[in-house]
Amino acid sequence: MAAACLVAPRWATAQVDIEHAGAALLAARALRFPVDGIRPETVRDTFDDGRPDHRHEALDIMAPRGTPVRAVDDGKLVKLFDSKPGGLTVYQFDPASQLAYYYAHLDRYAEGLHEGMQLRRGDLIGYVGTTGNAAPNAPHLHFAVFLLGPEKQWWKGQALNPYNALRAAR
Ligand SMILES: [Zn+2]
Repeated sequence: MAAACLVAPRWATAQVDIEHAGAALLAARALRFPVDGIRPETVRDTFDDGRPDHRHEALDIMAPRGTPVRAVDDGKLVKLFDSKPGGLTVYQFDPASQLAYYYAHLDRYAEGLHEGMQLRRGDLIGYVGTTGNAAPNAPHLHFAVFLLGPEKQWWKGQALNPYNALRAAR
């Protein structure tokens, strides 16, 4: 996908431009891999997978329950949210508040984690689990990235496929 972005096709729409701009922003962040002990090259690209009522628009990183989950980037923790599908989740912005990182199905949060705190890349934020709609026998981190709009709302953005960024992560 990155290679295709080098040449802007004549039929390019605003939507495509936004996705390419987002992909470039994300690539420039040089993410840290969010789950301890898992090799980035083992992650599968499930971004476009169908779910019962929506496109997945995230990657699932399988790992044993209780495996540490770490911040992929520096930036503010904007929201801790317990949702029916996502379970225990964390929303973090990048330092320029252009991207939002979303971590879901956490077993529990790291001690002392709170909204508004500044995270550093590699900080412990929680542990892999199955809260929300994850199958109890398949603990994983559901990880997504969103390109934020001008209003910078943590719950609203354009989903970006983090596959290349995670494969390159260390
Ligand atoms: Zn998922």
